[in-house]
Amino acid sequence: MYPMKQLLTYLFIIAAIPALAQTKLVDKDAKFVLVIHGGAGSVNRKNMTPDKEKAYTDGLQRALTVGYNILVRGGSAVDAVQACIMVLEDDSLFNAGKGAVMTHEGHCELDASIMDGKSLKAGAVAGVTTVRNPICAARAVMEKSRHVMMAGKGAEMFAAENNCSIVDNSYFHTERSRRALEGAIRDDSIREIKQKKSVNDPENRDNKYGTVGAVALDASGNLAAATSTGGMTNKRFGRIGDSPIIGAGTYADNNSCAISCTGWGEYFIRLGMAKAVADRIELKGMKLDDAAKEMILTKLPALGGDGGLIGVDKEGNITMPFNTSGMYRAYIKSTGEKEILMYRD
Ligand code: ASP
Repeated sequence: MYPMKQLLTYLFIIAAIPALAQTKLVDKDAKFVLVIHGGAGSVNRKNMTPDKEKAYTDGLQRALTVGYNILVRGGSAVDAVQACIMVLEDDSLFNAGKGAVMTHEGHCELDASIMDGKSLKAGAVAGVTTVRNPICAARAVMEKSRHVMMAGKGAEMFAAENNCSIVDNSYFHTERSRRALEGAIRDDSIREIKQKKSVNDPENRDNKYGTVGAVALDASGNLAAATSTGGMTNKRFGRIGDSPIIGAGTYADNNSCAISCTGWGEYFIRLGMAKAVADRIELKGMKLDDAAKEMILTKLPALGGDGGLIGVDKEGNITMPFNTSGMYRAYIKSTGEKEILMYRD
């Protein structure tokens, strides 16, 4: 039996994603792949309790199940990635939607984006404060507007006009995010006093991540990617990271791959991370895994940045590199092969 809250979430997602209501399954030879992440950062065995580990595993599993159920019914990669993101946005463990990290002032400002690799259509919202599922608004921007990206009040009004659920900002707040903010403010002031640590000090980056992302190859051979985040703890209000930026945090092109990133957004923007991986495949003929590793394990740390990404290519190969201590990540394939991982090894 599902607890009532979870059941309502599923009904909400089924209403948003009509493909979930279909019953016919794809041919048993059809190939599809789904990869998701719940953020890169300091994910260490020593900081984990069995309960915490189970909660993260269950959260990732719920998202995989919803996405798989769409793909196995012949649903589109775009529907699958949106549905996965909605499950993770509604899960307060992750830094997106409910449970998002807080700005310096103690508010949540959310960013999200989605891209369809078949048409190269994309939609994004930035700095929204009242949209329960920012990915719903990003999808509406992609399909119902002439634009690719909308921010702030305009994005919120557009989301409401397009039937995305609207909530008070307090809906996103959790005790955990509040404590993380207090810790970050404390650390920053100690740092200022001591003037010893630079912003590149690895210690300063821990516990700030937790963005969610999904990439998929559907049974029709189409790719899609989506990313959603609260950004980084103690960010200045108005700060926008890589997650809603097409080509930085998210990219999908049937000619190459679908990518969703997580990590220190400023570096991902400067590297044009997601598009850089796609270009390596399309222009240099590199393999997905080599292209992703070159960007995440060489180019990103060379600038002083950290994080990871997930990717899938048109053949269904996947990649999940990161240069932090861990990254919440999982995949499932049409063959039934599945893994849910968090640590480096
Ligand atoms: N990339 C996100 C940002 O900079 C943070 C994260 O991935 O956790 O806003």
